[in-house]
Order: sequence, then C-alpha cells, then structure tokens
Amino acid sequence: MYHGIASTSMPFPEGREIGAELYDVTSDNFKAQIQWLKDQGYTAKLIEELSPGQGKTVIITFDDGEMSDFIHAFPVLKKLGWKAYFFIIVKRIGQKGYMGWEELKELTQAGMVIGSHGLSHEILTNLLDSQMEEELLASKKNLENNLNIKVDKLSIPRGFCNDKIIEAAHRLGYSQPVFISEKPEFLKTPCLSRIAIKSNWSLKRFEKAVCGQTPWIEKTGDILKKILKTIFRESGYNWIRSQLIRLIK
Ligand SMILES: [Zn+2]
Repeated sequence: MYHGIASTSMPFPEGREIGAELYDVTSDNFKAQIQWLKDQGYTAKLIEELSPGQGKTVIITFDDGEMSDFIHAFPVLKKLGWKAYFFIIVKRIGQKGYMGWEELKELTQAGMVIGSHGLSHEILTNLLDSQMEEELLASKKNLENNLNIKVDKLSIPRGFCNDKIIEAAHRLGYSQPVFISEKPEFLKTPCLSRIAIKSNWSLKRFEKAVCGQTPWIEKTGDILKKILKTIFRESGYNWIRSQLIRLIK
C-alpha cells in the first residue's frame, strides 16, 4: 500500500492529515522497489487476474489519489505492463496536488483500477450511519458517472473499520474483499489487509515486508498501538498519535 510519491520537483498537497509524510516513498525508492520485485520474478496483478500456479505476484495499491502517483508511479508500472489499484478521495479530485478527471481517465485507459477512498477521507467509524453510507455511495456514483466505468473497489479511509461498514459497502455495491490497512481483531467479515510502505524504509526493509517479515522493534510498536486503540478507541488513539507526531517534529 503506497500513498504519495515524494520528489523535489513536486510539492505535496496542502491540508493533508498529520503524519501523511510518514508514507511518502521517494521516487527513487519507489523505482528501486519495483526494480527489485521485477528482478525477483514478481509481477503486479489485479485480484481478478489471480489464478493457481501464476508464479510470484504482488498486488499494488495507492491511496488518496495524489498527483505524484500519476507523475512518478504510473509511468514505471505502465512500462512493465503491471496493473495497480488507485483509491481516490473524491472531494479532492482536481485540487492542488491531487489527480483530476483527465489523469484518472488515463489511468483507466491503461487498465488501472480506480476505486473509492470515500468522499472526504473522514474516519467512517466516527460518522452517523447515514453519513457513512453517503461517503460510500456518493463517492462510488461520482467516480462511475464521471469516468463512465463500474466502481466496485473500496479502500477504507484512515484504516478505522468495523463489520457494519463492510456490510454497508457490500450492500451498496462494492465487491469483496474491501481493502483496509490492518485487520482489527474484532472484525468478522473478510477483508484485505495491506502492508503500508513507509518513507523511511530501506530496500532491505522493503524486501523483508514482501517476504512477510517484520523486525521485532516494529512488532513491539504494533502491539503497543493495538493496546492504545483498545483503551482509547479510534478517536482517542488518533489524537495521541497526532500529538506524538507533532512532538517528534
Ligand atoms: Zn487515505
């Protein structure tokens, strides 16, 4: 799971969430990671294309719809004939630093999949049911009407999810599995967890992630995160996280 691709030539969009920069992989690192995958014999495919005995495969996704994905990641993937998912925050389409309809059309024409990442990037578990359903349905319809495609893939914004949201997503026309960040333990519905590629990762750390390994220090951090989420719930945890990031900066 990628987000924005960092480069000196392109400033980041304004008004991103606190901590977004933790996921900005540089353009050079992105190229090196894709090259490593290629050298190891991997291919990036869509879920629909998976078949038994297909060989080494990765699924690549981009959240948020930043323009840097179009400028720096799309050409690299296109050259290899690799497919990926781009999950778009619909209200930010065409805003400074985000892809517009022209870029999204070009992605679909190249065989990339456009999915919804909500209307406004709001944490869905904080919303009333009606607002949550509006985020899911209006974003889907807007993408479908403007791009003239079927949109049935969803990536849960900001990673906070529950069974009610996944049930609503299926009811409103999204296919299984819904893409999330990490699967919360209480979630009963099947969904697709992803590995968030982080800005400070070396190529070695990336290789570990592809092989399903996590260094012990990060594992300890993950356990601490889970405990904090259980004690303070999503909104409390999010507040603590943003304060910590501010402090470190
Ligand atoms: Zn996001």
